[in-house]
Amino acid sequence: MSLNDREKKRYTRHLILDEIGEEGQLRLKNGKVVVVGTGGLGSPVLYYLAAAGVGCLGLVDNDSVDLSNLQRQILHRTGDLSRPKAVSAYEKLNDLNPEINIKPLIERVTADNADEIISGYDIVVDATDNFPSRFILNKACIRAGKPFIHGGILGFFGQVTTIMPGQGPCLQCLFREPPTPGAVPSPPGVVGAVAGTIGTIQAVEAVKIILGAGDILSGRLLMYDSLELSFREITVKKDPGCPVCGSGEDR
Ligand SMILES: [Zn+2]
Repeated sequence: MSLNDREKKRYTRHLILDEIGEEGQLRLKNGKVVVVGTGGLGSPVLYYLAAAGVGCLGLVDNDSVDLSNLQRQILHRTGDLSRPKAVSAYEKLNDLNPEINIKPLIERVTADNADEIISGYDIVVDATDNFPSRFILNKACIRAGKPFIHGGILGFFGQVTTIMPGQGPCLQCLFREPPTPGAVPSPPGVVGAVAGTIGTIQAVEAVKIILGAGDILSGRLLMYDSLELSFREITVKKDPGCPVCGSGEDR
């Protein structure tokens, strides 16, 4: 596999980097990433992964575009109202980079279809907005041994961590139980640009995993407070009693 002339031009600013170059760009071209959710987090993740030339990009969403989404879900436009988000996202990304293979899927992730949804991909990005879905994906990624990049946003705050099965803690080592219903308002308020920051970090984690470059957020939860404009990091250890990656009982 090699890069054609259009790709060499498109990825010029990657090719001149020591950490990427032509070899790294080919790795990206061979990369297979599935992003679950095409909303506030999924939008920046998908834009940057598509622009970077990740060769196979899956996007999963069963929702349709609502006017209240447009304050943060920058893949979708006013003209997309009521259209399936997966289709709307596909069109924008294909327009941005027709060199890559983009696979939209209008589906909700469940315990029954999660294994199939992530099969065929090397990396899974959590751009969902709820704990039941991310716990299902976490479990499927641990089973399949695939990196799982979690992001979450609430109000002016965000958090991000990368799960590396077999190497570090999983999402349920970190959050044993989902937040109790009612603990956060529904729907929660969120600042759109905070989703941009967290989603952009998720995208660069995926790029680094594909390249094998730098240090990733395995065993580290990065917390962003945009009001203080501060980042804080918590070290997370693998929990031997974890019901997903440890010896704890699965419920
Ligand atoms: Zn665990």
